[in-house]
Amino acid sequence: MLVDIGANLTHTAFAGDLQSVLSRAREAGVGTIVVTGTSVADSLAAARLAEGHGLWATAGVHPHHARDCDAATIPALREIAAHPRVVAIGECGLDYNRNYSPHPDQERWFIAQLELGIELGKPLFLHSRDAHPRFAEILRSHKVTKAVAHCFTGERDELHAYLKLGLYVGVTGWICDERRGRRLLELVREIPADRLLLETDAPYLTPRDMRPQPKARRNEPAFLPHVLRAVARALGRPEDEVAAQTARNARALFGLPQPA
Ligand SMILES: [Zn+2]
Repeated sequence: MLVDIGANLTHTAFAGDLQSVLSRAREAGVGTIVVTGTSVADSLAAARLAEGHGLWATAGVHPHHARDCDAATIPALREIAAHPRVVAIGECGLDYNRNYSPHPDQERWFIAQLELGIELGKPLFLHSRDAHPRFAEILRSHKVTKAVAHCFTGERDELHAYLKLGLYVGVTGWICDERRGRRLLELVREIPADRLLLETDAPYLTPRDMRPQPKARRNEPAFLPHVLRAVARALGRPEDEVAAQTARNARALFGLPQPA
């Protein structure tokens, strides 16, 4: 059974048919889903969704929303993180690509969430876009080791900086993009087998080579086997082996129970 370590199932794109999205995921062999929390309100929604549907969730504030953080943010996340279905702090990090929040705000709230994760002994679900090497510097100075660099899209030096820090690396359908994903197709071979995780980042990052393309190009957890196939092909390893290994890795990082 596959584990989708990152799905934004609280997104309005899923408001109308979440139940069928979840059944399709199960039919496709995606037995475990970690719902990404991206703001305080959204993390609360993710925890409730996880509770109602037997999923897992993260609690955090995406760097895009760093400008909205205040003194109430960390206490609120601490409270949400106490929920038994919340398995990680994040997504948090730095996004110097879109720059929706000023860099000093992004850094401040990234660090505050790292400290929260360390305080609670929870792994971190990390987002970094065009923020190397600053992102790795911050992780190093806070001695973060239990974490995943989700949706890795960077270059070789960035990848190796993360691996040296002991991070897991999340691979999405970005690897299926015939232009942007070409680097990742090579780099995925440099990720040790016990550090590799799979994710859809649904409803974003629909694999570009899926035929036919889904309605409104919405990505969903049921498409994770498509990402698995691309990764297994790039690694030259059997799909079931990569599926089992990445599921094991996800359970180890997030402390998830063995599937029934
Ligand atoms: Zn992200």
